[in-house]
Amino acid sequence: MRTVERVVQAPSDLGVELIGVPEGADLELDLRMESVSEGVLVSGTVSGPVRGECGRCLRGIDDSVTVTIQELYAYENSTTDATTEEDEVGRLQGDLIDLEPALRDAVVLALPTNPLCRQDCPGLCSECGVHWDDLPADHSHQQVDPRWAGLSQLTRTEE
Ligand SMILES: [Zn+2]
Ligand SMILES: [Zn+2]
Repeated sequence: MRTVERVVQAPSDLGVELIGVPEGADLELDLRMESVSEGVLVSGTVSGPVRGECGRCLRGIDDSVTVTIQELYAYENSTTDATTEEDEVGRLQGDLIDLEPALRDAVVLALPTNPLCRQDCPGLCSECGVHWDDLPADHSHQQVDPRWAGLSQLTRTEE
């Protein structure tokens, strides 16, 4: 068994549409490599910074992600190599392990498809596009919204 602690640069496109690890950012690998009969079992954690945009208000998000990886890399020409599909089990390429596919899968799974700057982000006013945080509590577009026209007339007759 060998442990590997290493910092590598993030590959490009490590993430999903709205959020991901910036290319070239430091990824910290903390891995164990165990020799098993058919290959090498790699397990451990990978962590790094993530940057993205809030799905509701488009504000920037600065966060971090830590994922757990466990992947078997079969020796070339082993039985596992011969009996499994390319995408089921990783393959050793000579003495080298290409961690990127496993890393990419784990990171993409860990990231939210609809990231938020904070859980209760109120988003933007659909009429004027201003963030609700920056608007007064009674902000509204009653005058220009036809759905409210009837209601305001009703209020007027009551007065
Ligand atoms: Zn937001
Ligand atoms: Zn508005």
